[in-house]
Amino acid sequence: MSEVTATRTKVLNYIDGSWVESKATEWRDVLNPATGETIGQTPLTTAAEVDAAVETAATAFRAWRRTPPEDRIQPLFKLKQLLEDHVDELGRIITLENGKTFAEGKAELRRAIENVEVACGIPMMMQGYNLEDVARGLDEMMIRQPLGVVAAITPSNFPGMIPFWFLPYAIATGNTFILKPSERVPLTMQRIFELLEQTGLPKGVVTLLNGGKAAVDALLDHPKIRAISFVGSTPVAKYVYARAGATGKRAQCQGGAKNHVIVLPDADMKMATQIISDSAFGCAGQRCLAVSVAVTIGEAQKSFRDSITEAAASLRVGNGLEEGVQMGPLITPQSKSRVESLIGVGEKEGAKVLLDGRNARIPKHDSGNFVKPTILDGVNASSELADTEIFGPVLSLVHARDMDEAMAFLERSPYGNQASLFTSSGAAARRFRYEAPAGNIGINIGVAAPMAYFPFSGWKDSFFGDMHGQGRDSVEFYTDKKVVIERWVEQHARKF
Ligand code: NAD
Repeated sequence: MSEVTATRTKVLNYIDGSWVESKATEWRDVLNPATGETIGQTPLTTAAEVDAAVETAATAFRAWRRTPPEDRIQPLFKLKQLLEDHVDELGRIITLENGKTFAEGKAELRRAIENVEVACGIPMMMQGYNLEDVARGLDEMMIRQPLGVVAAITPSNFPGMIPFWFLPYAIATGNTFILKPSERVPLTMQRIFELLEQTGLPKGVVTLLNGGKAAVDALLDHPKIRAISFVGSTPVAKYVYARAGATGKRAQCQGGAKNHVIVLPDADMKMATQIISDSAFGCAGQRCLAVSVAVTIGEAQKSFRDSITEAAASLRVGNGLEEGVQMGPLITPQSKSRVESLIGVGEKEGAKVLLDGRNARIPKHDSGNFVKPTILDGVNASSELADTEIFGPVLSLVHARDMDEAMAFLERSPYGNQASLFTSSGAAARRFRYEAPAGNIGINIGVAAPMAYFPFSGWKDSFFGDMHGQGRDSVEFYTDKKVVIERWVEQHARKF
C-alpha cells in the first residue's frame, strides 16, 4: 500500500512548493469501488484558496518563462524516470481509488510517461519560423511565447493518464500549471506530485488543487488564468467551455462519448471478438473510447452475436488487485445503479438482454459497485439508449442491411469520439476512414487511443474547442504567436 493512503487520510493541496491542508469545511470521502472502504478524504477547496494559489502560480511564471526550454525540460527527464520507478506503486493506487485492474492502471501510466517523453522535445516543437528580406533589409519572424498560468480539470476514469495530456506540455512551453483532479480519485496525483517535488521544479510551477464545482468555477473566473483544459462528461464540458469563453480564456473541453464499431462479414471474427470485448468491457466500460454499440452487417449478425456473448460471459469480474481478474467495478454506487437502470431502459425499449450483468455478486465484495458484462441485442436506432452514454460494461448490438445503413447510425449519434470498423477489405476501410464522423478512427482496432505524438481528437458533442490535447496541438494551445518585423540596415529601401 502506498504511503499516501496509509499515512494521510486527508488529501492535501500542493501550492507554491508546499503541501497544505485546505481550510475547506466540506470534504468528500474517497471510496475504494471494489470494497466500499473509505481510503481518503478530498477537501472541496474554497474559491478564496484557489485565488491565492493562482497568485503564487502567476508569480512563479515570471521566472519560469525566462528559463530556457532546454532547462525547463530537465525536470521532465527526471519525472520520466521517477514514474518508471514507481509504476507498480502508482498502478496500485489507481486500482484502489478507481477500481480498474492493476494491469489497466499500469497501462494508463505508460501513456502518461509517453506524454512526458514527447514534451521533452519542446525545444524543437516550440520553434517558430522566419524569413529574411520580406522587404529590402526587413526580416520577419514568428516566435512562440507561453501564455501564463493555465489549468486543467480532469475526470475520474484515468487518474494517472489524463493529467499528463496537459501537464508536461504546459510547463515545458513555459507556463505555470494548476491541476484540479476529480474529487473521486485524488490519491494518484497526490503521489505523483510528491514525485514532481523531487524533480527540482521551482516552486509554483505546478500546483495541485483538490475540490469540486466551487474550485472549478474559481479557476474559470480567475482573470490570471489564461487557458483551461477540461476532460469529463458532455454537460460539464459545455458549461466549462462557455464559462471559460466568457472570461476570454482559451479552452479545450473533451466531453462524453457513444462509440460505434461496424463489423463486416469479411472480418476476422475471432480477432474482432477479442478486440471488441476488450474495448467494451475493459475498465468496466468506463473509457471514453469504449465501444458501446456494435453494428453488424449480413452474416456477421449471428457469428458476432454468438462469439461476443461467449467472450463477455467468460470474463472474470472482481477486485482489480486480485490475480486473474479481468474487469473491476464501476466507480461509485450511483454509477452502478445508473447503469443497471439504463439496461432496464433498453429492455423496455425492446432490446433482448442476451447477457445480464445486473445484481452481480462477487464473493467477499458485497459492498463493491460491480456490474458484470451485459449484452443487449436489437437496440432500436431511435431509442433513448441508442444515444445515451452508458459508461459501463454494456454492449448494444444492432443490425444493418448494408454499409450505408450502418453509417447512418454513426451520423445520427450526437457524439463523435471514436468509430471503428472490422473488415479485411481495403476499399471498405478507406470509405470508413473517409466518411466516419468521429475524431479517432480505428480499422481493426477497438480502442483507437492516439499515441502522445498525435492529438487526442474528438468531434461533435465529444469536444468543444479547436486545439486538442497531446502532441503538436499542445504547443499551439499553450503558446501565443508573436510576429516580429525588424529593420537593422542603415540604407533604407523606402523613401520617407
Ligand atoms: P465529470 O464530468 O463528472 O467530472 C469531470 C471533472 O469536472 C471533475 O474534475 C469534476 O470535479 C468536475 N465537475 C463535475 N461537475 C461539475 C460542475 N457541475 N461544474 C464544474 N465542474 C464539475 O466526469 P467523470 O464522471 O469524472 O468522467 C467520466 C466522463 O468523462 C464520461 O462522460 C467520459 O466519456 C468522459 N471522458 C471523456 C474523455 C475524452 O477524451 N473525451 C476522456 C475521459 C473521460
